Amino acid sequence: MTEPAVASSDATNIRTMIMRDGDHWVINGRKHWITGAGNIDCKIMILMGRTGTAESPTYRSQSQILVPMDTPGITLVRPMETFGDDDCPKGHMEILFEDVRVPASNMIWGEAGA
Ligand SMILES: Cc1cc2nc3c(=O)[nH]c(=O)nc-3n(C[C@H](O)[C@H](O)[C@H](O)COP(=O)(O)OP(=O)(O)OC[C@H]3O[C@@H](n4cnc5c(N)ncnc54)[C@H](O)[C@@H]3O)c2cc1C
Repeated sequence: MTEPAVASSDATNIRTMIMRDGDHWVINGRKHWITGAGNIDCKIMILMGRTGTAESPTYRSQSQILVPMDTPGITLVRPMETFGDDDCPKGHMEILFEDVRVPASNMIWGEAGA
């Protein structure tokens, strides 16, 4: 959920985009403080992003989608420290998503803003 560019305690600020392209969703954005993403046993994440358009109701524009960690376009940028502790091995990671494609069926409970 949390993103470096916006106050993420309010989910309506989320800027990561989840765009439909045929049988897939394409994700672009940046997250940080993602606990567990630094663990080699972490195989899949739940990502919250924006599927709604500018016309969608403010509180019905955010969707959650399953994203396998080994999907092309995912970069684990860096582990983040809390008061000097990196919480290794689970880690809190900054993650970059660049044209990350997942199957349409990975959407949880359907698309918001549709
Ligand atoms: C160790 C650690 C692990 C974490 N793990 C995860 C994780 O696994 N996944 C994940 O998504 N996130 C994770 N986070 C991030 C955490 O959820 C966010 O830091 C938190 O939601 C606050 O968001 P923010 O950092 O953007 O702060 P902001 O939203 O910018 O808030 C900063 C301060 O401003 C206040 N504030 C914000 N908006 C307003 C407003 N409109 N009016 C008045 N006050 C306001 C807030 O109450 C807060 O005190 C983790 C953070 C830490 C430190």
